[in-house]
Amino acid sequence: MSLRDEVQRLKKKRNAIILAHNYQRPEVQDIADFVGDSLGLSQKAAKTDADVIVFCGVDFMAESAKILSPQKTVLLPELLAMCPMSAMIDGDSMRQMKGQHPKAESVAYVNTSAEVKAEVDICCTSSNAIKVVASLTSKEVIFVPDANLGHWVQKTEKQKELILWPGFCPTHDSITPEMILTQRRLHPKAVVLAHPECRPEVLDMVDAVRSTEGMVNFARDSQANEFIIATEKEMVYRLHTLLPTKQFYSLPGVTCPNMKRIDLHSVVNALEKMQHEIIIPDDVIRRARLPLERMMAVGRGD
Ligand code: SF4
Repeated sequence: MSLRDEVQRLKKKRNAIILAHNYQRPEVQDIADFVGDSLGLSQKAAKTDADVIVFCGVDFMAESAKILSPQKTVLLPELLAMCPMSAMIDGDSMRQMKGQHPKAESVAYVNTSAEVKAEVDICCTSSNAIKVVASLTSKEVIFVPDANLGHWVQKTEKQKELILWPGFCPTHDSITPEMILTQRRLHPKAVVLAHPECRPEVLDMVDAVRSTEGMVNFARDSQANEFIIATEKEMVYRLHTLLPTKQFYSLPGVTCPNMKRIDLHSVVNALEKMQHEIIIPDDVIRRARLPLERMMAVGRGD
């Protein structure tokens, strides 16, 4: 039996749903019931009636699924599929920051641990970060952990004072203006789309800044046929799958090794052995749920 068939057999046996992030390997995207960005995956996790959620992504995403569906069994197929940006801030640092800025409301990008989410007023994704910050009443806003995303939000939300944490995504932060210029030379007709986790000097030179789902919508609605995609390279596979008549070019070497830890073998193992189950203390789930629900109520931006 092929690995794909084995996944289907075990999925039925366990009454499981497979959720995969846009940065997962193509073969994992192909067997998933739903592929999307953090916001879309959170919405699916909150609504599913499956007993088991196999989360093909990284640790904080599987944690969010558990927080939103605490009665379900949530499995992360690889224990070491961890996001380094999420590990750049912990609950103690978050509490300290709030103590230093008592008038500020606090926003955690979903790329944070459950412990950090439990400390903040609201979460956001890259697709709705601007809408979330705009929805707050305080002038001062603590925004963690991605400083690049925070700078980008600050550019639009000029009346707010964002207090940033010096976190970053090593994958997106590795994208340089030179890499964009090289691709522009190779594909002069292409529109350049960049993810807001990229550095400010990169965001300043591209045609549009979009979350991964925002990139899908932009490319679908655009008259252009060619696009340079400044984010994790597997996004191009997703775009090709959805929009096969258009051309998409990734940036060489821009890959997230943490997302790539999961493959079909690990999905089969996860379903067979029911591993690795996400366990979060009840009080953390209770406190982290509200900021995630507030985020989902704000809805999608770009
Ligand atoms: S692409 Fe960046 S933010 Fe996303 S999981 Fe990888 S390291 Fe974390």
